[in-house]
Amino acid sequence: MSAPPLDQVDLDEVNAIASGVYVNEKNRIKSAILVSGSNGKVDEVKAKKKHISELPMTFSNWPQHVNWLNATIVAIIPLIGICLTPFTPLSLKTAIWAFTYYFLTGLGITAGYHRLWAHRAYSAALPLRVFLAFLGSGAAEGSIKWWSNGHRTHHRFTDTDKDPYNARRGFMFSHMGWMVFKQNPKLKARTDISDLNEDPLIRFQHRHYMPMLLLASFVFPTLVAGFGWGDFKGGFVYAGILRMLVVHQSTFCVNSLAHWIGEQPFDDRRSPRDHVVTAFATLGEGYHNFHHEFPSDYRNALKWYQYDPTKVFIWIMSKFGLAYNLQRFSQNAIEQGLVQQKQKKLDKWRSRLNWGVPIEQLPVIEFDEFKEQSKTRGLVLISGIVHDVTDFVENHPGGRALIKSAIGKDGTAVFNGGVYLHSNAAHNMLATMRVSVIRGGCEVEVWKQAQAEKKDVNLVSDSIGGKINRAGEQATRSNDSGAGVSAHAA
Ligand SMILES: [Zn+2]
Ligand SMILES: [Zn+2]
Repeated sequence: MSAPPLDQVDLDEVNAIASGVYVNEKNRIKSAILVSGSNGKVDEVKAKKKHISELPMTFSNWPQHVNWLNATIVAIIPLIGICLTPFTPLSLKTAIWAFTYYFLTGLGITAGYHRLWAHRAYSAALPLRVFLAFLGSGAAEGSIKWWSNGHRTHHRFTDTDKDPYNARRGFMFSHMGWMVFKQNPKLKARTDISDLNEDPLIRFQHRHYMPMLLLASFVFPTLVAGFGWGDFKGGFVYAGILRMLVVHQSTFCVNSLAHWIGEQPFDDRRSPRDHVVTAFATLGEGYHNFHHEFPSDYRNALKWYQYDPTKVFIWIMSKFGLAYNLQRFSQNAIEQGLVQQKQKKLDKWRSRLNWGVPIEQLPVIEFDEFKEQSKTRGLVLISGIVHDVTDFVENHPGGRALIKSAIGKDGTAVFNGGVYLHSNAAHNMLATMRVSVIRGGCEVEVWKQAQAEKKDVNLVSDSIGGKINRAGEQATRSNDSGAGVSAHAA
């Protein structure tokens, strides 16, 4: 069998390699078998073994779709725990211990796995790192190395197929589905975790993860309650299993709820959101829109009144010298993001309003033409721009007489204070009535000159809101009403 010609190279595979996707050896196309057809032509048959995740789930194949190890940890054991509760009395001491241990193991994930290891948002002294590695193991969410790689991938490829918790695949997928069901290895992306590989503590925890999980998740909380106040069974069921269930569900909300509900004050192009409910559910990981913009900031909530106990914990640890190098993005960088997002919303709002036909799109007419047309329509010339006020005459707040007296004339001076200094709203309203410009209308030229000098103003698209129409800067406004009278004044 000869090697396949170049045009038979599998493009998906090439793309996958080029984009850094890890293709599992077992699932790679093993070879392209060349078979000679009866007509002598060469047909290509690919011996392509499909991964289970590429096949639709059916009644007969669903057990193959399930990642049974993960399903046991995040679903089956918690269900067994729930079934044990009717037979396990809950004492006050055990309840307090279960809640405390929930909080601590939750911090193992948020302060340890997430902010310390996945994002390097601060540095920690060895005792704190050991403490967090132990507590993180107690949360039963995988090793630091595995978790951080997934999380860094999530930040790098947010909302794409390579995002392991891709929120675009639905709430349940991003919450638990990505763990409970086998995922396509072709979509597995790599991120740099060389810093984690160099850490002996992380290597140790990864190598001995299963015993550490059992010790920190079940044995330790059981022994504390057992030797502390004689409640081994309660310690196992409540501080062990049910506490683990709550830690799971609360931290999983960072991938689901935090991409589902709330505000997007920094960037709305992707799914992360800020919400106080998520913050309470996740020990302060609820300001997720901020977090995706500034991932290595040790804070998640910026305001003192926003719930972020993880931030407070890290800060307190820094006061004891156990945490240091706390990373903070500058207030300037943070406010830039806020301004840009606000600007985007304003732009959208502005684009929904009628600001009048863009001046450069208006037909140019001679002054005599304007005079001629005024005999049949209510045309008023202001700052070189012709406005058709026919339908507005009856509604003119200053009365019909005044506006009628300006028809067929240059009303620049009277409009801008000669008779009445019109309001900002009047200038806006007038702009919606403009129909043409006068050739050589000096006001327009002066205005165009002024606009051209403003780099942030787009002359072309003011009708769709691209141009900012600032109050007091409308084309019809004349600061010096005397000079505003054009040469055509009647
Ligand atoms: Zn996220
Ligand atoms: Zn993160």
